[in-house]
Amino acid sequence: MVTDDRDPQGIGMTSARTRDRLVQRLARQGIREPSVLERIRNVPRHLFVDEALASRAYEDSALPIGHGQTISQPFVVALMTQALVETGNGVRQLGKVLEIGTGCGYQTAVLAPFCQQLFTIERVGALLKLAKQRVGSLGIGNVRYRHGDGMEGWPGQAPFAGILAAAAPVEVPEVLLQQLAADGRLVIPVGPGGHQSLLRITRTASGFEREHLCDVSFVPLVEGRG
Ligand code: SAH
Repeated sequence: MVTDDRDPQGIGMTSARTRDRLVQRLARQGIREPSVLERIRNVPRHLFVDEALASRAYEDSALPIGHGQTISQPFVVALMTQALVETGNGVRQLGKVLEIGTGCGYQTAVLAPFCQQLFTIERVGALLKLAKQRVGSLGIGNVRYRHGDGMEGWPGQAPFAGILAAAAPVEVPEVLLQQLAADGRLVIPVGPGGHQSLLRITRTASGFEREHLCDVSFVPLVEGRG
């Protein structure tokens, strides 16, 4: 069993009861997939934030992770994960999935068990390094990490059954659409700073189908490597 002073078992402010409250709240807000809710319950979010913020890790809010970036709000992480895996009748196990904007790695950890292989790209090297350690320490081994510009996707590994972007471009990047497999889904916030629409774009036989999931506020997708 892993024990360290970061309290991976979840005692005190990170207790099972605190996590239950978060999961109940997400369920009320429309997260329907039991496996997604279970995953949110089980991933220790307090290990992904600064120790000083650990007591707030199970609030449904975004928190700073340094370099001007934030860990996404649990509701948004759950919603994006659900949008990739839901079928209307349970969840689908995804093949290769691409994540853009690893950040602290929390979304990576939530998503990994739903994928055969998860490829994640982050432009800030220091964040990527920490994320890799944290995700690895949870025993998650099906993730490949790249320090680079997610706007280009990951051409050598395409096509993807799912692509999830955790930072917002002003318009949907064409190259990401081209890296979707048949039936593949791109879940991405799109729009100007702070006011974006979370979209799910599905590759169909005849083109691309777009759905608006909700209004969101993400950090901008920045071109180039940090
Ligand atoms: N889901 C993450 C939060 C990510 S915040 C989590 O759970 O922590 C968005 C991240 O996208 C930031 O870390 C930012 O550095 C990164 N980012 C922004 N533009 C990018 C780009 N073009 N390519 C890769 N990463 C990018």
